[in-house]
Amino acid sequence: MKTSPIWHPFTQHALFPQMRAIRSAEGAWLTDTDGVRIFDAISSWWVVTHGHCHPHIVRAIREQAGKLDQVIFAGHTHEPAEGFAARLLKRLPAPLTRVFFSDSGSTSVEVALKMALGRFRHRGEARHRIVVMENGYHGDTVGTMSAGERGVFTQPYDPLLFAVDRIPFPAEGAEQATLDALEALARRPDTAALLIEPLALGAGGMMFYPSWVLAEMAAICARHGILLIADEVMTGWGRSGRFLACDHAGVAPDILCLSKGITGGHLPLAVTLCREEIFLSHWSEDRAKTFFHSSSYTANPIACAAALANLELWDDEPVQAGIDRVAAVQTQGLTRLAAHPRLSGARQFGTILAAEIGASGSYMSTLGPELLRFFAARNLLIRPLGNTVYLLPPYCSTGAELSACHDAMLEAADVFG
Ligand SMILES: *Cc1c(COP(=O)(O)O)cnc(C)c1O
Repeated sequence: MKTSPIWHPFTQHALFPQMRAIRSAEGAWLTDTDGVRIFDAISSWWVVTHGHCHPHIVRAIREQAGKLDQVIFAGHTHEPAEGFAARLLKRLPAPLTRVFFSDSGSTSVEVALKMALGRFRHRGEARHRIVVMENGYHGDTVGTMSAGERGVFTQPYDPLLFAVDRIPFPAEGAEQATLDALEALARRPDTAALLIEPLALGAGGMMFYPSWVLAEMAAICARHGILLIADEVMTGWGRSGRFLACDHAGVAPDILCLSKGITGGHLPLAVTLCREEIFLSHWSEDRAKTFFHSSSYTANPIACAAALANLELWDDEPVQAGIDRVAAVQTQGLTRLAAHPRLSGARQFGTILAAEIGASGSYMSTLGPELLRFFAARNLLIRPLGNTVYLLPPYCSTGAELSACHDAMLEAADVFG
């Protein structure tokens, strides 16, 4: 293959010069340009929910592309955005009433931070500090890197990142320390918001914590008048076993970020939702209180049509049954993984299954690239985080397909553990 001019994301070209060229996809499978089929066990970076190229969503994209491709969203609106927003709100906690569109998970979090700071500013309160959780991940833009865990990913850019306050991850048995740390920070007069991934930290290493801790954190925020921002970019759209991870805790956040599964994984789109009160704090005849945020493609009609078609599937098809089925197969896998002596920390969160090969390590563990090659050689798209191997499959995955992934994880433990 001739050398490509393309610089790929999260790719060290000196170590991985060759990209696998993918020609097509259907359901849970990719097909490369040699005709080899690859099982997409991580939903192409966590975005594909029902399966690739779902006919209903593809049809909606086709129809919309021929009707209205794009229109400026300031001062204008369109049916795909209106239809999607109205339908989405029906599925979400009632206090969330306003929908702001953007294009990616990172931008949905940036928007959330701006909404939170704008809200306090326009109310005349000097609150600007953000509390986050250790090992959190919220994106790769400068603002979201600031809020995420610092490390090898962020080191070169540290001089640009703003300061945040961190509470420890609520590890089993140490939950109270997390709640105490939050309580102390929430009392500070300059704290504005708590930004967290509810119940599951994704890129930080597939770490899970119980719903009662989330409920307690929400209560602390409410008690001290600071905003709870739920980053459900990864956990939303059924990954947790329910529509939102917050649903497990009966928590209604003040601000909610959704992206990844929003179009079923077909097109980029994101939304940040908020309570009416946050919208109203910007509502004024004073133009200085305008929410000054947009991107060129805000609420692109084709992406919105895909998102609406995705919600139609949620409303009209047995999506929950597929999620329950995948979760049940993962529970069988969990039993097998937990019994392997060279796997540690086997754990499940809804449709997600994770374990460490050998002892715990870090993202820069030399095992990562070796494992990647090991799974690629078996035509499985499994992309470990260091020595943490996880499956985050589309909901159309069959029991046999997932069992084959469990087999491969056990085999990897035999070889590398
Ligand atoms: C992936 C992710 C993001 C960033 O989303 P992008 O679309 O990659 O910008 C933010 N938060 C969480 C929890 C994520 O998993």
